[in-house]
Amino acid sequence: MERNDFLDALAERLGERGLLRAADEMARYVADWAGDRLGMPRAVARPASTEEVVETVRLCREHGVAMVPQGGHSGLVGGALPAAEGNELIVSLERMNRIRAIDPINFTMTVEAGCILESVKQSAAEHECEFPLALGAQGSCQIGGNIATNAGGLNVLRYGMMRQLVLGLEVVLPDGRLWNGLNALHKDNRGYALHQLFLGSEGTLGIVTGAVLKLSPRANQARTALLGVPSLEAVIALYGLARRDCSDLLSAFELIPRRCIELALEATPSLSDPLDQPYPWYVLMEISASGPLDLTALLEHLLEQGMVRELVLDGALAASEAQSRQLWQFRESMLEGQRRRGEHLRTDISVPISAIPAFFDAANRSVMEASPDCEIIAYGHIGDGNLHFNILPPTTMPEADKRQHLHALEARLFDVLDDFNGSISAEHGIGRVKQPAYLARLSPVERELAEGIKALFDPDGLMNPGRILPLRH
Ligand SMILES: Cc1cc2nc3c(=O)[nH]c(=O)nc-3n(C[C@H](O)[C@H](O)[C@H](O)COP(=O)(O)OP(=O)(O)OC[C@H]3O[C@@H](n4cnc5c(N)ncnc54)[C@H](O)[C@@H]3O)c2cc1C
Repeated sequence: MERNDFLDALAERLGERGLLRAADEMARYVADWAGDRLGMPRAVARPASTEEVVETVRLCREHGVAMVPQGGHSGLVGGALPAAEGNELIVSLERMNRIRAIDPINFTMTVEAGCILESVKQSAAEHECEFPLALGAQGSCQIGGNIATNAGGLNVLRYGMMRQLVLGLEVVLPDGRLWNGLNALHKDNRGYALHQLFLGSEGTLGIVTGAVLKLSPRANQARTALLGVPSLEAVIALYGLARRDCSDLLSAFELIPRRCIELALEATPSLSDPLDQPYPWYVLMEISASGPLDLTALLEHLLEQGMVRELVLDGALAASEAQSRQLWQFRESMLEGQRRRGEHLRTDISVPISAIPAFFDAANRSVMEASPDCEIIAYGHIGDGNLHFNILPPTTMPEADKRQHLHALEARLFDVLDDFNGSISAEHGIGRVKQPAYLARLSPVERELAEGIKALFDPDGLMNPGRILPLRH
């Protein structure tokens, strides 16, 4: 093992389990979810308590070592991956996974940042409460990562993004000071909402070690439906109808094109085509409630209205929890189907909901004009205007050319997005991957403010450097 004053001092503070230095031990921390990108850390620190995070950060500062906070490394923009030069220390929060407290009357829960989202949801459910953030990576992503990326998922239209679900935070600042902002107040207007600065900061302002989460009453009934829809215009009209007709109980409204159903069928052979015949678009929707309401009647009324207006052509209504899970499986399996297609362009853009059909037309035209043999796979969370407008490169294209080709198509897509005042990142953040496109769209005032915030929190530039904003030299 290499002798190194910094690492030896760190090993002394964190103990044997707390610091990994051997290449084979570090292997599982250095690749992203898709396996597209690899990094090389100096070592992996695994503090087991807030005090150990404080010690780690202080030592890093003393030795001028850059830190990369890491959660479940399910992020898709390279924010939690170390740089390839081998000079950054990964600070993994995985051992800080305790639920500190649950208050079902205040509807709050205090957790350590390394808690896996799925286990937070389960613990809330045990107290008849719900932590409503729901996303494909919930079995591996951590609350700290969800906070740092301001994650949103399937239920944003009803419950909001992480920004709306966090009341207080505990953060180790880049100079090693501990900020205890673990407020459990639902109303609190004392000056600046400092905790909000860390939501979506992607680990560039400090390491989140704990959080007070806002819970909701646990929905004890839900109804799920998969609907065949004739056009994108009809999907948007149906969404408007559903928001109004379902008494604000709509908790998911997912857009799925026919191609994604096919990908799901390929990836999970046990699934069968959900409706009697194929339709160009599908909507996977869910309504849920915690009280004695007749959700079936609500949903049936909506579908009746949708059919009368020719917005819905056919539909499958889940009659049991098992059937509902099966419908949701299409949503999960289609992601796996895409992943199997190898390297492709993944985006997480947003436009105003009403502009979705016009944006689709313009984006399709622009991309197909430049690459007639590529395949567009676009789906999304309609209630948030959030689309995953993904592009598979032509199958005949040599591997070596694909990345550059996709990059050029992304630039075209983002140009169209600008015409619609959209966002190049509605979910995954900026990290390193989206940085050039982000910076190109920042106004001078926005850039000055963003750099001022970074300099205030992290004057030495050691906290996740080069993510969101470029490295300072
Ligand atoms: C299959 C799949 C589906 C997904 N679906 C969605 C979705 O629907 N909605 C959505 O928003 N995202 C989605 N994502 C992206 C990803 O899951 C989220 O961004 C998630 O919040 C990342 O959490 P993580 O713990 O994996 O963070 P990581 O990937 O480990 O880190 C992400 C960023 O947060 C920083 N960070 C991590 N922990 C901390 C901490 N404790 N303190 C400070 N900074 C920290 C890292 O430095 C990095 O910049 C999906 C990803 C996959 C693979």
